[in-house]
This record gives sequence, C-alpha cells and structure tokens, in this order.
Amino acid sequence: MTLDATDVDLEAHGLFINGAWCAADAARTFTVYEPATGQPLARCAHGSRADVDRAVAAARAAFDDGPWPHTPHYERAQILHEIAQLIEANAPELAELESRDGGVPLRATTFNDIPLGMHMMHVFAELARRSPYEPMPWNDFPTLSWNFVWRNPYGVCAQIIPWNYAFCMTIWKLGPALATGNTIVFKPSSLAPLSAIRLIKLIDESGLLPKGVLNMVTGSGPEVGEYLVGHPRVDKIAFTGSTEVGRKIMAIAAPHIKKVTLELGGKSPSILLPDADLDKAIDGVLFGMFYHAGQLCEAGTRCLVPSAIYDEVVERLVQRTRQLRVGDPLDLATDVGPLISHKQRETVEGYIALGRAEGARLLIGGGRPLGASYAQGSFVEPTIFGEVNNRSRLAQEEIFGPVLALIRYDDVGEAIAMANDTMYGLAASVWSQDIQQAIDVARRIRAGTVGINEHHVLNPYAPFGGFKESGIGREMGVAGMLEYTEPTHIHVDFQQQRDGKLWWDALLPPNEEE
Ligand code: NAP
Ligand code: MG
Repeated sequence: MTLDATDVDLEAHGLFINGAWCAADAARTFTVYEPATGQPLARCAHGSRADVDRAVAAARAAFDDGPWPHTPHYERAQILHEIAQLIEANAPELAELESRDGGVPLRATTFNDIPLGMHMMHVFAELARRSPYEPMPWNDFPTLSWNFVWRNPYGVCAQIIPWNYAFCMTIWKLGPALATGNTIVFKPSSLAPLSAIRLIKLIDESGLLPKGVLNMVTGSGPEVGEYLVGHPRVDKIAFTGSTEVGRKIMAIAAPHIKKVTLELGGKSPSILLPDADLDKAIDGVLFGMFYHAGQLCEAGTRCLVPSAIYDEVVERLVQRTRQLRVGDPLDLATDVGPLISHKQRETVEGYIALGRAEGARLLIGGGRPLGASYAQGSFVEPTIFGEVNNRSRLAQEEIFGPVLALIRYDDVGEAIAMANDTMYGLAASVWSQDIQQAIDVARRIRAGTVGINEHHVLNPYAPFGGFKESGIGREMGVAGMLEYTEPTHIHVDFQQQRDGKLWWDALLPPNEEE
C-alpha cells in the first residue's frame, strides 16, 4: 500500500457508509498493486478517524433504531441466499479480480475461492434459519417454570480481515454477523481489498440490506483498524490476521470488555504415518503447503516424516514439486502464483536464508524463478527444506510463503509431541490407511481442525479456529454463528398462586388481609 493522491491515474473506490459511497475525509487515497506485475491496479479511499466515527455511528443507528436486529431470522436467511446468488451471477468477474489483486491463480479462484464463498454464504443462510429461541428442559425447582434462551445479536461489529483468501475471509465475516442481526463496520486489508469492495457494491446495488447495516472503511491497520476496534461504540471485534496484531487487539478490547474473536496464525503439521498411501499423500502434503503459495493460515508448513520412509518421501516430494508451474495467476495453467507483495517476498527470503544458516538442507527451490515474465512480480520458487529441527525458527515461526519444513521422527508418540510443540494450534493433517489409528492421532493433536488424508478442510458446517496462540473463538458452523450472539435466559413462571411461592415467604410474611 502506498499513500498517494496523485501518482496513479485510476478512479478511487470510495468508503461505504450509511448506504452511500463517499470519498474519505481529506480525500486521501492509497494504491493497490497487482502482485504478479507490480503494477498499480486500483486506488481506494484511505479512511480517517472521522470516517470511522461516521461509519460506527451509521452502524449504531441501524442497530439501535433500525429494523435489522428485529427482522425475522427466516427473512435474513432469505437475504443471505440472495447475496449468495449475486456471487454466483458475478463469479467470473470476482474470480479474475481476486486473482489479479491477490495473485492467486485463476484456477484456484474459479474452482475454489469464489464457489466456496458462495456455498458458505448459502450455509450461513441455512444456519440463520435456526430459531433464535433455544428450548431448555422444564424446570420444577422450586416450582414449575418454562425456560428458554433468546439469542440476541451483539450490536455493532468491527470486522478486520487479512489479504490472503480475501474473498472467503469476507464471507466468513459478513455472513454470520448479518445472519444473526448485527450491524457491521468492515475493514479489508489494504493489500487486497478489491473482491470485498466488489461484493459490497453488488450488495448495495441489490438493495437487499437496510442502510447502515453494512459499512466499510478502507485504510491502514494501525490507523483505521486500531481506531475502529478501540471505538467505544463498537460492541464486538472479529479479527483475522497475525498473532502479533491479535495480541494488540485483545489489549485494546480490554477496557470496555468487548467481545473478541481472533483467527490468527499457524504452523500446522502434515503428519505422515508409516503406512500412508504415498500415491495420495505426497500430492496431499504439497496441496496443503503450496496452495495459495503457502499464504494460508492453516497451511501444512511442517511435514513430519517417519525415518523408515524419509528418503522415499523426499525423493517423491521433490519430483512433484519440480512439476509445479510458477507464473501468471491469470494463466489457467499456472499452479503457483506470486506472493502478495515485495515486502512479503523479503520476509520469506529472510526465512530461506535463516533455514540455511540453521543447518537445514535445502532440497528444492530457495530462489526467485528466472525469466522476464517474473521480473516485476513478487515470485518465490516452491521451496522444501529437509532435516529440519522442530525447535528451529524455520519450524516454529509462521513464514506465510512457499517454504516446507520436513522433520524426521521415529515413533508416532514423538510425532504427536512435535506436532503439538508450537505456540500455534490451528490445523493439522494425518495421512494413513488405518483410519482408526489416524483418528487416535487426530484426537491427540491440539488444533482446531484436523484432516485425515486431506488438508485445507474448510467446511462451513464445521467450527474453524485455533487452540493456543492461534486464536479465540470459532468461525463457521453453529459455533461460529453463536459467536455473534449474546444469550438471554428467559424464565416463565408457572406457579400461578402466591401461596405456592414459599420462597417468597423468606422475605415477605404471608399476606394477612387475604
Ligand atoms: P496482519 O498484518 O495482522 O493484518 C491483518 C489485518 O489487520 C489487515 O487488515 C491489517 O490492515 C489490519 N491491521 C494491521 N495492524 C493493525 C492494528 N494495529 N490494529 C487493527 N488492525 C490492524 O496480517 P496479514 O499479514 O494481513 O495476514 C496474514 C496473517 O493472517 C497471518 O498471520 C495468517 O496466519 C493470518 N490469517 C489467519 C487466518 C485464520 O483464520 N486463523 C486466516 C487467514 C490469515 P492493513 O494490512 O490494511 O494495514
Ligand atoms: Mg493487491
């Protein structure tokens, strides 16, 4: 992101506040670049504190005085289904935009990101149909009463997402918050905001939402994001991003005891068991690692390999990695695109140098692909290090790029201990033909999602989130919906007569006039 009002001749996308698109206070803008070419792609309004104040005020009024929190849940469900249909109708455009903005290969955005986002929105609509009244058992102590839980929306939600998997991240945020009757101030990443902006434009044009229910302020995290999450009129924060920023946000939320969900970093293991079917597992490990060029929070960035099959695994992983085509994300033949930015490439290259310095063995990759077509983009070759020590920084720190660490083990207990020996706990995969054994291992992994013979198992019916420093709370599934509601227990007394209320006598003497 570069702050500039003049250097790029592109019309700027506005902020979306109270149902209208507007320039930022002081007309500031920033430029968004295409990672594959390094060229400017768009300009966006850079919000200020005054803009955040206006957006929060709009969301506050839409929640406190507007119809949205009281709209019947089945009507909100219908609106979400219609938003999903908008995604479907505009899928090719959204896929291309996501590819250009995020550098994600068009094959991935066309066949995964956009259709998955649409599917997820339908599922949130379906979950929204669940009644907000939750029954409880009849209670007969001290006398008969009928009880239920009413699920209230929280109110104004501040939602912040990262640049990776930006379209699906947007759906994960907007879907459940809208489904449950909240209002929103949303901030996408400044590095890849365009698919979110396009979706919000589609929603705006459809007229499906009352004004003020959904607001968006673009701009830098430290400036716009931090002020937004600390805003005293915001009730709930839903943040996806790095653990480092997550810590800061939790501290900012503390003075007002704001509700917080955090979806943070990971260093997820792919655990090959000795009997893994390597014909499937080798490609599975590579899919887990190099999909989106390794820029996925739950990517399988550590691969735990039994010593007995280590050499064969190395040979086959390297042979398949050599076949991956790195290149232009818009080319349907491309398997691996660029990283999001030159800065991110520097970070990743720093880790590659560190891996060498730590004594890990570079097996493939490690550099930039050569050729004129790569010259301007932020490309890094798919890279694999062998003989990595699980306690080394290469194995412990989130790199967020295409760098796989192979770690040897001798028995399964050791593999489980190493899998858990990290500050993170987002995901894992276990590769075995013995499903019972794989389940036994899965249950001992301290992580929110474990795939057996699969990685990237993002299922909108299932809770997704992290143990330990990978986060707090869950997104998706029923658990994810409940993160956007505050329960009220409602007790309906069935003891019809004063005389039966003996416990009242503890304070009040029986009424003598009767
Ligand atoms: P990041 O630097 O933490 O930024 C994430 C978002 O927070 C961006 O919109 C950013 O704004 C904003 N932000 C930055 N500093 C802030 C602050 N002080 N206060 C409020 N907001 C602030 O993360 P990233 O580099 O974009 O994304 C990669 C990270 O996201 C990785 O750690 C990855 O594991 C994590 N992630 C987690 C999940 C999950 O579900 N667990 C999913 C995807 C990604 P700007 O960038 O516009 O300045
Ligand atoms: Mg971009």
